[in-house]
Amino acid sequence: MQNQNDQRILISGAGLAGMTTALALADRGFSVLMMEKAPALSEVGAGLQLAPNATRLLERLGVMDDLLPQAVSPEALYLMDGVKAQPLIRMELGSQAAQRWNAPYITCHRADLQAALLKAVRAHPNITLHLGANVLSHHIAADKVTIRVDHNDQISDYSGQLLLGCDGVWSAQRAGINQQNKPADESRARFTDHIAWRTTLPIEQVPQSFLSALKDQLSVSAWLGQGAHLIAYPIKNGKAYNFVAITDGEDIGTSWDMKGDSAALIRSFSGWSQAVGDVLQAAPQWTFWPMFEMPEPKLVIDKRLILLGDASHAMTPFAAQGAAMAIEDAASLAAHLSPEQSDHSAALAAFEKQRLARIAKVARRGKLNRFAYHASGPVALGRNIMFKLRKPDDFLRDLDWLYQYDAADITA
Ligand SMILES: Cc1cc2nc3c(=O)[nH]c(=O)nc-3n(C[C@H](O)[C@H](O)[C@H](O)COP(=O)(O)OP(=O)(O)OC[C@H]3O[C@@H](n4cnc5c(N)ncnc54)[C@H](O)[C@@H]3O)c2cc1C
Repeated sequence: MQNQNDQRILISGAGLAGMTTALALADRGFSVLMMEKAPALSEVGAGLQLAPNATRLLERLGVMDDLLPQAVSPEALYLMDGVKAQPLIRMELGSQAAQRWNAPYITCHRADLQAALLKAVRAHPNITLHLGANVLSHHIAADKVTIRVDHNDQISDYSGQLLLGCDGVWSAQRAGINQQNKPADESRARFTDHIAWRTTLPIEQVPQSFLSALKDQLSVSAWLGQGAHLIAYPIKNGKAYNFVAITDGEDIGTSWDMKGDSAALIRSFSGWSQAVGDVLQAAPQWTFWPMFEMPEPKLVIDKRLILLGDASHAMTPFAAQGAAMAIEDAASLAAHLSPEQSDHSAALAAFEKQRLARIAKVARRGKLNRFAYHASGPVALGRNIMFKLRKPDDFLRDLDWLYQYDAADITA
């Protein structure tokens, strides 16, 4: 006879993918057991832009009321010439974006989103979360999947009907599959030759030369130039600013949080405007993150094992959609699965088909942005002319497919 525990859903990893998936499935009536190897959910990372395709889903999960007071709804999005410190494009966001896409475009600190999600997870009667619980391995049987977990040095086994690997770009679940079934390189995360440098400054310390180049202080701006770009946006209800500089760089290991030598960063932006130079100098410390992507995203590994978020499809941040894709995975999976069904094979196949098409399209947009953002010489000139010829509304229309998308619509 089947044990009732074998009916629950197991999740490895309580990042953005894990927590949003737990909430979406729990709302559908599933019982969820989530394991997170970190003993506490720390403030890893810095800012996040959350576009309407993500915020409409977070609204349904009931986390926006806690998140919004800490977030910012930027008034505009600028593409800036990084050398001349002049706007190439200004796109209206704020209330216009909310009306156009029926959900707000916000910027926030990752820790604030994490805290709002954690509060909802802890309050949900269908979710159990174990912190300090490292999922070591999994075993798939005909009727269940079992995970082996090191929980504060105690080894225990837990079983369920599905295992969701939400364990990030260096996913242990994916690595386990690779060892069993695949040549080593086939689905390993690949270094993209880019480094992301991040810092956060209190608003009083953001250089005036930078702020005065933008008409609206509460805006997202992308400063473009040869081989690099700088993204800036307000977080913490406007009390701080998040900066992310993307440069070429070398693979220096699998960590998300390394202290960088800012002299190398400053060299990458030499010859850029004073506004950019002042920002680079103003920050006492830049953290740098080598950027990885999954060359071959795959979600459904087996009818009992699914990878979600970065574990499946880590992507470069050129479209600012990595977290949004994880949140979309959660909504889509929950919409496809039903607690009444015992065999999810058909639902999972439909889920994977829909998600892979969407993820591929978003990743293509990221590649296009990368080309446009880091252009130099005649390509940059052509880009700037093209930007001038288009009306602001054309740029908004161009984003409709991305931001209007509802991942919970299984017919989309
Ligand atoms: C520079 C940069 C800027 C970005 N900006 C944006 C942006 O503006 N907008 C956006 O949408 N996205 C952005 N992203 C992408 C976004 O941060 C990621 O896509 C997102 O955080 C992935 O979430 P995840 O839950 O899949 O993985 P993670 O956040 O990595 O979470 C994985 C979790 O699994 C846990 N774990 C790992 N192994 C185990 C194990 N064996 N057992 C138990 N737990 C385990 C980890 O401790 C972690 O908590 C950016 C990324 C970068 C690098």
